[in-house]
Amino acid sequence: MNPSPTDPACLDPLVATVIRADVRAQSAYHVPDAAGMVKLDAMENPYPLPAQLRQELALRLADVALNRYPVPSYLALKQAICREQQVPSGYDVLLGNGSDELISIISTACAGDGRKVLAPEPGFVMYAASARLAGLEYVGVPLRADFTLDLPAMLAALAQHRPAVTYLAYPNNPTGTLFDAQQVLQIVAAAAPFGIVVVDEAYGPFAPHSLMPALPRFNNLVLMRTVSKLGLAGIRLGYMAAAPALLRQFDKVRPPYNINVLTETAALFMLEHLDVLQEQAARLRVARAELSSRLAQLGGVEVFPSAANFVLIRVPDADKVFAALVARKVLVKNAGRMHGLLQNCLRITVGTEHENLLLLAALAEALQVSSSAPD
Ligand SMILES: *Cc1c(COP(=O)(O)O)cnc(C)c1O
Repeated sequence: MNPSPTDPACLDPLVATVIRADVRAQSAYHVPDAAGMVKLDAMENPYPLPAQLRQELALRLADVALNRYPVPSYLALKQAICREQQVPSGYDVLLGNGSDELISIISTACAGDGRKVLAPEPGFVMYAASARLAGLEYVGVPLRADFTLDLPAMLAALAQHRPAVTYLAYPNNPTGTLFDAQQVLQIVAAAAPFGIVVVDEAYGPFAPHSLMPALPRFNNLVLMRTVSKLGLAGIRLGYMAAAPALLRQFDKVRPPYNINVLTETAALFMLEHLDVLQEQAARLRVARAELSSRLAQLGGVEVFPSAANFVLIRVPDADKVFAALVARKVLVKNAGRMHGLLQNCLRITVGTEHENLLLLAALAEALQVSSSAPD
């Protein structure tokens, strides 16, 4: 009898022959089903576009020539991004199908025997996953218990490993921490003799400032951003700015038509209406402060400072609280088992004012139930 193709344990001889052992050993990236839930697990902007804008966008998209390949220079879109996102003059951007694709372009371009990627952790999981897939060795350097950078440990690890690529998420995911800017730039300077440092500003729209202006001071600095957290997660568009000599090399690894024409058109349209998304981000920053202070008032909850559109909290028993929240139709991210430093932590995306109230009420109940229920 043939093994069932849906049985994960199946030892299909063809699969075993064809697929790499490390890939077979991996588990798939799991996205939980959020149907019917208050969805606060993925750092999405909860606000839809105003109806009028959606109508205009529909008309714009209707004119797109779907039968044609994109023009692979993406000149108009790149120029609009450079203009709207304060990319320093003389600097260009490279576009990715989400910053996830940019991370994988960097891995592919930098991989080689004995080459390494380094990042503080807990951090964004794709840095390590992408590095390993490309055959790079990944080195994680623990943050301090309050999730700030351990600068001496970072500098020591840089000197020891001389990584080709270092990632620093600014602000960091899943902690929300805005690392000290001077320390970040010290790391960029320390890595300059042997490696690039990618400052990942995925949460830039919610942070007090950007490190983009520092770009001309370092030829090994790569500034990466995405429109996902700003409110366009569905169109998949990320970009990175760096010295032209570096970007030219990364561009050779980029699949030529990686941004589809619908994404290109929608992004150009939204850049003309950036104020709408920026107002939504401002509203979320206000809601983040409100949510953080209300969370801190719940007994037994520790709230960590956040410069992103989510808040990391620590509760007495994250597994029980998470399950009790799911039972109340609220989905957050249980980060408690992602890293030793994240024990009993939950990551909560800032939602609409209404969603945040639902979360707070459900969390108050969940904390009660979880403290009284036996194991
Ligand atoms: C969400 C996230 C990304 C991925 O962004 P996409 O553009 O949606 O692929 C990159 N970096 C960090 C730190 C993130 O949290």
